[in-house]
Amino acid sequence: MKLVLASGNAGKLAEIREILADTGIALVAQTALGVADAEETGTTFVENALLKARHAARASGLPALGDDSGICVDALGGAPGLLSARYAGEHGNAAANIARLLDALRNVPDPQRTAHFHCTIVLLRHADDPAPLIAEGRWHGRILRAPRGAGGFGYDPVFFDPVFGKSAAELDATTKNRVSHRGQALAKLRELLRA
Ligand code: IMP
Repeated sequence: MKLVLASGNAGKLAEIREILADTGIALVAQTALGVADAEETGTTFVENALLKARHAARASGLPALGDDSGICVDALGGAPGLLSARYAGEHGNAAANIARLLDALRNVPDPQRTAHFHCTIVLLRHADDPAPLIAEGRWHGRILRAPRGAGGFGYDPVFFDPVFGKSAAELDATTKNRVSHRGQALAKLRELLRA
């Protein structure tokens, strides 16, 4: 089955491809098909995931996978949340986003630096599919005081996983994909597809 991924994020594409590698699903990035980004006007992860998937399905004529994700920090009332990609203004500037987050938490002690990544993934069989498959995942940890590690993308260098004792950027890709919010959501999606 050929599926269009409603994202231009190369990091996500690589992660999702690896997780779906043995499913027979061929994932094509919407950017490879000339499909532009949808406007993320929703107020929840699930709304934005649906908007993205519907836009990609309509523009490509293919079934589409839309995902919306972000990091929710407890001490900031869940921010940056939906605005994670553009927390510092410019879309996708990871270094600036991390700098703003560390600054916002500069006076917050370690026990209160808890946070989780959230991911919602939807699969639309076609643009007007009335019953999309929806799967969600959460990855719990806390925000470090300075970046650690060189892997991953986005907020990975400042997200500490207490189980591994490492930042998300210090985990190898296979481990991150197994435990991450996106990995959990995709595992659930695989179950839904099987059912
Ligand atoms: P989206 O592309 O609208 O889903 O925005 C997601 C944003 O949340 C990304 O640009 C990152 O800033 C952040 N994010 C989501 N997943 C991850 C992850 O696995 N690691 C680090 N940052 C992430």
